[in-house]
Amino acid sequence: MNEPMIVTMPIRLEYDYSPGAGRSRFLRGLAQGKILGERCAKCRKVYVGGGSGACPRDGVPTEEVVELPDVGTITTFCVVNVPFAGATVEIPYVSASILLDGADIPLMHLIQEVAAEEVRMGMRVRAEWLPEGERVPSMDTIKYFKPAGEPDAPIDDVLKRMRADA
Ligand SMILES: [Zn+2]
Repeated sequence: MNEPMIVTMPIRLEYDYSPGAGRSRFLRGLAQGKILGERCAKCRKVYVGGGSGACPRDGVPTEEVVELPDVGTITTFCVVNVPFAGATVEIPYVSASILLDGADIPLMHLIQEVAAEEVRMGMRVRAEWLPEGERVPSMDTIKYFKPAGEPDAPIDDVLKRMRADA
């Protein structure tokens, strides 16, 4: 009863994806073991994850590249209890928004090496990278984030940093 069910469907989708300037830079950075963000010259906000290469608020190109540390704070998360086909993680697993130190928007990633019930907002986490030599221009180059072993960050301050008017 209530066993999770995986349905395999014969669906195939092929597409060519041309990442924009920001996304390309971000992905190339990952292959070099770096997390590259970009700063808006106008509002000084640092975007990461590779958007359009322009500030969504000011509409100007974000040309200043900023190397971010691979540590940050969980701003929100969800515990996933549904397996997906081809999953390499056990359920339940946690998917979280992580605000890297120095960034103004969060990245989404898996949280591992900690029980799902111990994950919390404000938790400090660090990226677990693929070994050098295996790194490719893909988000998979960061396997997951894991506890950084630091005291929690004050979550109200962290959330305030992400506000559009901050
Ligand atoms: Zn801006």
